[in-house]
Amino acid sequence: MTKAVRVQAKMGTFKIPTRKFEVPCDVNGNPLRVSEYFGENVFDFSKSEILTKQDKADIQDVLLKKKKLTKEMADKFANAVLNWATSKGATHFTHWFQPMTGATAEKHDAFLSIENGQPIEKLSASQLTQGEPDASSFPHGGSRSTFEARGYTSWDLTSPIFLKSHENGKTLTIPTAFVSYLGDALDIKTPLLRSITQLSNAATKFLNLTSGKSREEDKFTHVDVSCGCEQEYFLVDKALFFERPDLVMGGRTLFGAGTSRNQQLEDHYFGTVPERVMAFMQEVEVELYRLGIPAKTRHNEVAPGQFEIAPIFNSGNVAVDQNQMVMSVLQSVAIKHEFVCLLHEKPFAGINGSGKHLNWSMGSSKAGNLLEPTDSPHTNYRFLATVAIICEALNRHGGSLRTAIASHSNDHRLGANEAPPSIISIFLGDTLTKILEAYAAGKKYTEEDLGFLDLGADQLARLVRDNTDRNRTSPFAFTGNKFEFRAVGSSQNVGIPMTILNGAVTDVLNDMNERIEKELGEGKEVNEVLIDITRDLYNNAKKVVFNGDGYSKEWEEEAEKRGLPNLRTSADALKLIADSKKNTFLTKLGIYSENELTMRFNVRVERYCKHRIIEFRTLVNLIHKDILPATIEYKGVLANSIDEQKDVGIEAKVDTILLKQINDKTTSLYEKTEKLMKEVEKLGEEIQDAEKIANELLPLSEEMAEDIAFLEENVAEDHWPLPTYYDLLFVR
Ligand code: ADP
Ligand code: MG
Repeated sequence: MTKAVRVQAKMGTFKIPTRKFEVPCDVNGNPLRVSEYFGENVFDFSKSEILTKQDKADIQDVLLKKKKLTKEMADKFANAVLNWATSKGATHFTHWFQPMTGATAEKHDAFLSIENGQPIEKLSASQLTQGEPDASSFPHGGSRSTFEARGYTSWDLTSPIFLKSHENGKTLTIPTAFVSYLGDALDIKTPLLRSITQLSNAATKFLNLTSGKSREEDKFTHVDVSCGCEQEYFLVDKALFFERPDLVMGGRTLFGAGTSRNQQLEDHYFGTVPERVMAFMQEVEVELYRLGIPAKTRHNEVAPGQFEIAPIFNSGNVAVDQNQMVMSVLQSVAIKHEFVCLLHEKPFAGINGSGKHLNWSMGSSKAGNLLEPTDSPHTNYRFLATVAIICEALNRHGGSLRTAIASHSNDHRLGANEAPPSIISIFLGDTLTKILEAYAAGKKYTEEDLGFLDLGADQLARLVRDNTDRNRTSPFAFTGNKFEFRAVGSSQNVGIPMTILNGAVTDVLNDMNERIEKELGEGKEVNEVLIDITRDLYNNAKKVVFNGDGYSKEWEEEAEKRGLPNLRTSADALKLIADSKKNTFLTKLGIYSENELTMRFNVRVERYCKHRIIEFRTLVNLIHKDILPATIEYKGVLANSIDEQKDVGIEAKVDTILLKQINDKTTSLYEKTEKLMKEVEKLGEEIQDAEKIANELLPLSEEMAEDIAFLEENVAEDHWPLPTYYDLLFVR
């Protein structure tokens, strides 16, 4: 226990604060149902009192891409938004965007305008639809020099406008895309929107080709991507957080001795949520409900101090925006509860890290979920072909998916012995695998393994539902009616992995559409074509299918035999962005241009280096300012004690052993620190620097962390200056 906590405990001032907040109530003070205030901070044009019926119909057509947005409509819309926002107390508006930092950015402008000497509130069509933030300070990967650093934000009509609440006011927040003067995407949203359009086109064509429907009105018009993000996070006490500069600077502890009780009792997972945390979760949920984000699940996670929140899934683009808001609300509400919410993938060494499962599926209201087995044989052939298509997408583009989730922080989780490994494989479960194996062998059903598999009569649906065993070790798993991309890191913007996944699936779908068109033209039956596709794709992609323990050493060896890429560090993975051959599928689909990929390569390598350099400098600083002074002081205590005992003729055996051990470790730590400092001075921000960091300097810093952990365990508590894992994980 640190001094701060102990002093407070002695003085009787240590108490666990539980914040009370006002739940939404009606005028009589009775609590409202969630359904009564859900989405109250989201602009819903269909409820606007200012827009006419015709206006609303026009806007609906624009959203469905049946009409173009005219200046006149934008004016009307802006006016309706302004009216709504100001009636709810908003004073400012902002274009909200997602630069390549992975975070969100916003610059606020007041509605206030002075016209003819009079103050009025105003939001023009052009203010709604376009903005020009100074783009020079956002990462651009060398796409332009500062003097021509113009960037434009443009309104994303597919994601709702909402109000962000602060303690003393509200800001109208308009989701936007962010592009350069020359039209290069400077953000995460623009390529995501492109990938969603591409996937929708390809999947719609696939549906129409395989549905056998010829009447125009029966045809499918679009396919949506659905996404639900399970978000894991840690909570630490705010006061203790600020006592750990490594947490403040980089979001993770750079060292720390493990506690005697980490997660081995398995009692935290799904255990009773502590009262103070529950108060926090409830306030988070109220905020999210107001924002129209359907938070559904909350629970303790595996590690002490770790929790999870999951919403009901939404359409892909909206889900990404909402996840950004979830992360933002978690952090802002945590502060009100005297917590800090850590979204870093690995805040503490030796215990569970945090991920963000990206649950993904595609479908439409007319076609249903393409990943859901049904009770009709035809749609089940289609389902199996779709699964085979996704297997092939991972087979072709597993490396790119690995790259999509590469970051300095996620590196601590991937491949470590608790999280999905950096080898991208796909888990289908035994039942689905057996069925696909049967098809791959040219059989339609296997009597010996499954009994008669009637693809109709709900059998496939039941079998798949009943047999989606919960393999937690796979980075990409089929879970009944969706795929879960589990290797995504907790702090990441899911827009990037979703873009790559959409692109990978589209790539295979497009090839298959061509084949289906051709084979149907040759007079083949639809189901026959689907069976052939399933067989061929599965046979080809089989090597990425793995249902065993993804954390095991055997799998790493087996994966190597199968020829699957194992990109262990971000430095390995990021190189792939610069490999134009591996990215042809993305450029061909127009999801990224070559220039945009180069920008992303530069930005991500640079950010990787920057983050690590910050960590190294913080580590060195902590060693100089806190750890060395503490150990030197404690060595003095021991030396004095040895001297004093010598004076009275006693042999200070334990003191001497301890002093020697501490002295050795201190010396070793000091030498490594000197070495690290020298190397850090020489570092730049290029790929070879990233490689040096990943392969030499990070391992060196990890050895230093081990030395520090030894010192922490052996220096008396009174002399140890920093909060320990005990304080950070258990003081709640
Ligand atoms: P767990 O993996 O913990 O069992 P759940 O079954 O609760 O998780 O679902 C996890 C997430 O998946 C939730 O956010 C949920 O809304 C989302 N989800 C469920 N069905 C789909 C789907 N068809 N497409 C995309 N996401 C989905
Ligand atoms: Mg899950």
